Amino acid sequence: MGQMEGLDVLACERCEELCESRTQIVNGVGPADADLLFVGEAPGANEDERGEPFVGRSGDVLDGTLREVGLDRGDVRITNCVRCRPPENRDPHKEELANCREYLETEIDRIDPEVVVTLGKVPAQHLLNRDVAVTSEAGDVVDVTIEGSPRPVMVCVHPAATLYDSSQKGTFEDTLRKAAEFTDGESGQRRLGDF
Ligand code: URA
Repeated sequence: MGQMEGLDVLACERCEELCESRTQIVNGVGPADADLLFVGEAPGANEDERGEPFVGRSGDVLDGTLREVGLDRGDVRITNCVRCRPPENRDPHKEELANCREYLETEIDRIDPEVVVTLGKVPAQHLLNRDVAVTSEAGDVVDVTIEGSPRPVMVCVHPAATLYDSSQKGTFEDTLRKAAEFTDGESGQRRLGDF
């Protein structure tokens, strides 16, 4: 079964195939009191190797766009729906998403962010529990009940979408700019100070 300590899953064998394909469990990174929590789909090869979400090309896009809107990667929390790399980067199966959901919900509940931002179709559909057209719904905020509390969830395209379709760059940046408005406290002040 699974073993969680704080925000991290230390051991888990719920998904037979993912246990075989993973090098390690990839937990979320970033401050435990972050205002923004980004949720991706699942670790890819780079993430699996380094044990950190969004450290490959998608991560470069995410980090760069965060900077464009006045935020630093270190200011935000970043995690995934599924913590183990699926074989050949396939999408996580429904059952795998369900197996990992408890960890994601616990992380959201403990971080208690101002807004949860879904990166791509898989996390949007997983949290909103319906079909989502991420490009046309990007920037929309929907309340989702997680661990008994309503949580604002903002739909966003996946950073990798900007690499295949440059028209998505503006959509991605506009959504992050909107998400940045949810930040307050220290990072918000630093953000204002930068302008
Ligand atoms: N894509 C994701 O959805 N998650 C990662 O961690 C990296 C790429």
